[in-house]
Amino acid sequence: MDSYLIQMNGNSDVHVHRNGNSLSLGKVKSRKPRWAVRASEMSKKTFNPIRAIVDTMKVEPNPNKPMISLSLGDPTVFGNLPTDDEVIQAVKEALDSGNYNGYAPSVGYQSCRQVVAAYYSCPEAPLEAQDVILTSGCSQAIELALAVLANPGQNILVPRPGFSLYKTLALSMGIEVKFYNLLPEKSWEIDLKHLESLVDAKTACLIVNNPSNPCGSVFSKSHLQKILAVASRQCVPILADEIYGDMVFAECKYEPIATLSTNVPILSCGGLAKRWLVPGWRMGWILVNDRRDIFGNEIRDGLVSLSQRILGPCTIVQGALEHIIHRTPPEFYHNTLSFLKSNADLCYAALSAVSGLQPVRPSGAMYLMNVQGD
Ligand SMILES: *Cc1c(COP(=O)(O)O)cnc(C)c1O
Repeated sequence: MDSYLIQMNGNSDVHVHRNGNSLSLGKVKSRKPRWAVRASEMSKKTFNPIRAIVDTMKVEPNPNKPMISLSLGDPTVFGNLPTDDEVIQAVKEALDSGNYNGYAPSVGYQSCRQVVAAYYSCPEAPLEAQDVILTSGCSQAIELALAVLANPGQNILVPRPGFSLYKTLALSMGIEVKFYNLLPEKSWEIDLKHLESLVDAKTACLIVNNPSNPCGSVFSKSHLQKILAVASRQCVPILADEIYGDMVFAECKYEPIATLSTNVPILSCGGLAKRWLVPGWRMGWILVNDRRDIFGNEIRDGLVSLSQRILGPCTIVQGALEHIIHRTPPEFYHNTLSFLKSNADLCYAALSAVSGLQPVRPSGAMYLMNVQGD
């Protein structure tokens, strides 16, 4: 490797030494004749429609009409969905221990990766500590997954309607977004023909969000198998956004997509935000499912390198992670889901009564979607 030593002498003479040879660049020219500081192309290509609305929103209700509050994707806003006391206690203990004030490895503490791996590992999709990358929220998990799979000029397949972050991240990275349709008349299943028709030589990955934000849909096992068949035929890896994993109502079952495939390589993204109701704590993860060794070291090393740009999630929350995962009582998850279910029923009933609206009854997550009219 070439080594460079740049010597600044304070008299604006700069000398660059390359491997011991001195190149004199002489006087440094001034950069520009006057100030002109402009925001970068990347910043201009970055637009998050949800943050743009939520961060600047002023709600002024019409005094003449009753308001139906439809809430938004932050479960903490209205105070009716607190996290569990064990979760709070775990963070207090981590803080008080004094053991979590330093830098952690960029992919997270080994012991925390182990805890997450053991929690999600199952015979159909075994995971070890090295298959887990801890991130700053599920958002960073998605960002890293996209960054490691796609180059500028490539494209990704994204659900419509879908979570807006995929497009926000992709466009700022110069990655093209191709939207595949979801079918409201089939409880928002993927239009598989449309999906497959979008694949081309530049397709870097397929994003599958299940359970869905904003549809509140939960895919059946057989539908997930059909999605996997498309990915397998076209040799397209899957980025699974499973942040609402396990948040499904009693009548249906959540299947992690990686448990249904032995060959499609899958990066599954999740985190504490929704299920444990602490989105502000910014704890997420990527689970690398790669039983045929298709990602191999290439993608794993890439993820590690990318994680080193900004060092992972907050260490205090990492210190609390084991207790959060092991000590949160089952009633907590159960109570959250019954609350969400009764709320979903209320919203569904209220919206169904409004003429012109056609809501689809959700099966999980925290959302309810209306069929778009003409
Ligand atoms: C909330 C959400 C995320 C982001 O989760 P964070 O951990 O808060 O970054 C990702 N995907 C979907 C579908 C979400 O609703």
